Parts: sequence; C-alpha cells; structure tokens
Amino acid sequence: MKLANGLALNSHPSGRHFLQIPGPTNVPDRILRAMDYATIDHRGPEFQQLGRSVLGGIRRIFATTQPVVIYPASGTGAWEAALVNTLSPGDTVLMCETGQFAALWRKLALRLGLEVEFIAGDWRHGADPQAIGRALDADAGRRIRAVCVVHNETSTGVTSRVSEVRAAIDTAAHPALLLVDTISSLGSIDYRHDEWGVDVTVAGSQKGLMLPPGLSFNALSAKALAASKTARLPRSYWDWGEMLAANENGFFPYTPATNLLYGLHEAIAMLLEEGLDAVFQRHRRHAEATRAAARAWELEILCLDPREYSPALTALLLPEGHSADALRKVALERFNMSLGQGLGKVAGKVFRIGHLGDFNDLMLVATLGGVEMSLALSGVPHRAGGVQAAMQVLAAAQPHTTRRVPAPSEAV
Ligand SMILES: *Cc1c(COP(=O)(O)O)cnc(C)c1O
Repeated sequence: MKLANGLALNSHPSGRHFLQIPGPTNVPDRILRAMDYATIDHRGPEFQQLGRSVLGGIRRIFATTQPVVIYPASGTGAWEAALVNTLSPGDTVLMCETGQFAALWRKLALRLGLEVEFIAGDWRHGADPQAIGRALDADAGRRIRAVCVVHNETSTGVTSRVSEVRAAIDTAAHPALLLVDTISSLGSIDYRHDEWGVDVTVAGSQKGLMLPPGLSFNALSAKALAASKTARLPRSYWDWGEMLAANENGFFPYTPATNLLYGLHEAIAMLLEEGLDAVFQRHRRHAEATRAAARAWELEILCLDPREYSPALTALLLPEGHSADALRKVALERFNMSLGQGLGKVAGKVFRIGHLGDFNDLMLVATLGGVEMSLALSGVPHRAGGVQAAMQVLAAAQPHTTRRVPAPSEAV
C-alpha cells in the first residue's frame, strides 16, 4: 500500500532491519515487551513504585548518588534544561567545536540569550583540555559561567576526555560549572558523573540506553542545584525545582512518559545484569574490530587521536569524489541496513557505523559485511578483507560474556 505522500507502508523485506545509525539504536525485544502494558494512573500507588525505582536506578548508570531529572523529551530538551536551570541572560558559556552536536548546542545557547565563547575545532578531535585551560586562565573577570562539552561527538566518532577537562578547570581554579552532553555515550562509554565532578550531565533514551526516543535526563550536582536557585533564564516546563519536589515521592509534576519508564526500568536492569564494566568493554571491542575493518578497507577514520576513538560509533571518510550518501543508499536498498549520515561540515563525505546499544559480535560482522558489499557495489575504491580483519579481532579479544548476577540489593 502506498500512502498519498508516496510512503510505502507494507514494504516488508524478510529478516530484521539493521539500524546501524548511532541512535536511535536497536531496541531489544525485552524492552519492547516491558513497554507493552496498559498505561497506568501517574498519580497512583503503582506508578509511585515505578517512579521510585527508575529515579533510583538511573543514578547508577550515571555513576552518581545525586538527583537525576527525567524529562518526557528528546535530548535537545535536556540540553535546554541544563542551560535554563543554571544560567542567567547574558551569561557567557565556553563551548568547543567538536562537531555538529556541539554546534547545535551552541545555537541553542545563543537563542536563549547566552554569550558563547567557541573554541574552534577541525571536527576530528575532541574538546582540548589545554585550550579550555587557556580560555579559563584568560578569563580574569570570571565571566565564563559554564564549560559545555559533548562527551561523545556523534557526528564524528570522537570521545572527549572529560576527566581531563575537569582537571583543566581545577588547575585554572575557575568557578565555572561543567556541563556535559552524554546523549550518545551514557550506557555505552565509561562515564562518572560524581567522580569527574560534572555539574549537569545531559543524556537521552534512544542511544546507549536502548530505548525508543522520548526520554532525556539531567544528572545534577549540589553546585548546579545551588546555581539553579539564582539563575534567571525563564523556565517552566524544564524547572528542576518542581520536578525534584515531586520526584521526592516518586511522582512527576506533569504527565510522565509512563510506557517509556517501563522500558527504562528494564533497560537499567539489563545494563546492571551485564555489568557496566562489561558493557563498556563490549563497546570498546566492537569499535576496535570496526577500525580493523576500516584499515583493511584503506578507508580513513575521521577521528585523528587514538585516545579519542569512540567506542560507540566509527565515522569513515570516503575518498575524494565519492559520495557517502550514495553508499548509504545502496546499503539501505540492497541490504536493508541504515548507516549514519554525514552531518554538517562532513555531509556527504563521511558515513557513520553505529555499534552501540543492544549489539553483539555477529551483528557487527553482518553490519561490516553490508558495508563491504556496499563499497563494492557503489564503486568506492577499497581493498577487500575488512570483515576478515574484524573477525580476527573478535576471535582474539577477550569475550565479554561473563554475565554477572546482580545481588538482591542491586535489583531495580
Ligand atoms: C542525538 C544527540 C543529540 C540530540 O538528541 P535528540 O534526542 O535528537 O534531541 C545531542 N547530542 C548528541 C551528542 C547526540 O548524539
């Protein structure tokens, strides 16, 4: 059947679609089933139990003991929430041009009436802790109120070193808040809200957390909460105050995304069952195998600093004169696989392989097989043997399958 707008409804190729974009990611059946229940009264006792459970459990994923706010919104909403709760009109924030998502967060800040000091970047490196240190040292008048960093830049496959950014702020003895976007890293890449002294961590549901889109998060610090008492940017829907007051009892000030919270409950349980360290190790291993494939293909990895290779996705450059979008079209039409599009400054030049979320060795081998066949079919110069190289890494590296049974005290 075709809809009036030309959209085919019943194009149903056999087998599963490979959703290998770096978010939304493949939602595991276990989570889909966990959401397939009647929506309940969000002011009733049954909901209260759910609310308490997810509000407590999600802290472990952020590695924090402090409050985490959950919004029924995409990640962009949580970006806005982080800024409007902590800052006042005309405040200066320091941001780093790591890629498209850093550029979008900057645009959002400008629209809110903030001043942005933007450290220029080449879209092939992470936020530079030394450059941040220099900018803070130069800020004698202490105008900079927040340093905003994208932990995993999803447009480039580059992961910034947040603990080093924290150290740079401390070395400069600068009072700025540290705000970090972990929308595509939480639940995939090692992240420590408390240990790294982050004031607001922004996250979303549809990437490492393996959920459909629709939830986003702000993990807070005492310093961020204190800042929210005097911050003057207008806010209502995003206001932490009312949210935290209702959350005290497991409730929300407005209708929460109840069914997504069922899914979140399951996602937290799955991550803790596997063990967060094992989850992070699994992602690093899949990334390493993907890079082995890229090297065998003789395609250039966009990320230039091996310390900053993303465990969640890999962005690859095509040779001059070849279109990454044409390659992605072949992958979709021939193999029913979605690969990530090049965004912003690297549009058409790169494609991105998402290897995050609910993912395993054979899914990676199939994904890379689809890429290798698509490279051949679209006439992109490359060497064969990428899949073989990846398989060697997978066969050699330690498997991650030590399933840890959580202690009863850890049950969520
Ligand atoms: C996906 C993503 C966003 C945007 O999140 P939405 O849910 O699309 O609003 C922002 N930052 C990063 C790093 C992302 O990966």
